[in-house]
Amino acid sequence: MPDLPVPDRPVPRPGILEIDPYVPGKSGVSGVAKVYKLSSNETPLGASPQAVQAFASLAGKLELYPDGSVSRLRTAIANRFGLDADRIVCGNGSDDLLHLLAGAYVGPGDEGIFTTHGFLVYKIAILAAGGVPVVAPEKDLTADVDAILALVTERTRIVFLANPNNPTGTYLPFDEIKRLHASLPKRVVLVLDAAYAEYVRRNDYAEGIELVATNENVVMTRTFSKIFGLANLRLGWCYAPAGICDALNRIRGPFNVNGAALEAGIAALADHAHLQKAVDHNETWLTWLTEEIGRIGLSVTPSVANFVLVHFPQAAGMSAADAEMFLARRGLVVRAVTAYGLPHALRITVGSEEANHLVVAALRDFTQAVHHA
Ligand SMILES: *Cc1c(COP(=O)(O)O)cnc(C)c1O
Repeated sequence: MPDLPVPDRPVPRPGILEIDPYVPGKSGVSGVAKVYKLSSNETPLGASPQAVQAFASLAGKLELYPDGSVSRLRTAIANRFGLDADRIVCGNGSDDLLHLLAGAYVGPGDEGIFTTHGFLVYKIAILAAGGVPVVAPEKDLTADVDAILALVTERTRIVFLANPNNPTGTYLPFDEIKRLHASLPKRVVLVLDAAYAEYVRRNDYAEGIELVATNENVVMTRTFSKIFGLANLRLGWCYAPAGICDALNRIRGPFNVNGAALEAGIAALADHAHLQKAVDHNETWLTWLTEEIGRIGLSVTPSVANFVLVHFPQAAGMSAADAEMFLARRGLVVRAVTAYGLPHALRITVGSEEANHLVVAALRDFTQAVHHA
């Protein structure tokens, strides 16, 4: 065997340097005083006032380690959703859990499947674990069960599916999820990422609780970052079969959920009125934005979440990058989605009433400016 050159400095494991670092949505625009951040799917209603109060109550106890078992929070989640608290694992955001799942089930050379416009963290988590990312094509910007199944091989260990998906806002009915699960080998972990579940108003949708409860290879992940408005605290959880919980609990950080997140999470769960307000706000303004933007002549992918994907026709001389800049000059910060394979679209979070009106006015002015150029 030829001698391999000895590196003169530490070299990351194979796969690590193939990772394109995740670029979060922008938060500001230089030179613009009032900024409306519509780039990260944050709630315009903020967190529940009770959650804010619970967060503040931690101020005098910063020297104490949190409860590493997160037991009061897991009990609160279990009571709320009718689950077994022992089958809940919490994380530092649901991103933490996605990485732990890949870390526990994917090894060098193993394959993990996600879809073309799926959430970017899936690819990062698979590569970080040393695995091989496998991308299943979508149909009409929607996950396609048959395309996913066609890519399953002996090496497949995990399938990540956001339902609804970010950044498209599309979803699969529960029948399709069940059909996907039924044809997956039992050794493959099916991860149903339900980050936007609370926003969905469709009779044929389900987050996946029933599938988790009755199988050994399905995990549902949830987050407090979106409708609960606690993105800054980093809090997510998953409901998983006993075997998977056991694996996650062995490799997670012993204090991966901080005490402020734990307290705020419990309070946020208890504030039903705040949650309902957020659901109602979204229902009203998601519909309004979709209709008004459509009326301008731009196509909007039908969304069941708290954002819309707006497409800019190249044929009409429009570019998403120009639109992004046009909106930014008015303080409207939205999400470019080129990294998601959507170079001609922008993702816009449903904002406050004021922000939503400004978005529609800006898009109208942008399209008129292009027509008259
Ligand atoms: C926002 C989002 C999450 C949540 O991430 P956190 O780490 O919990 O903040 C997970 N999955 C998808 C698809 C998302 O859009």
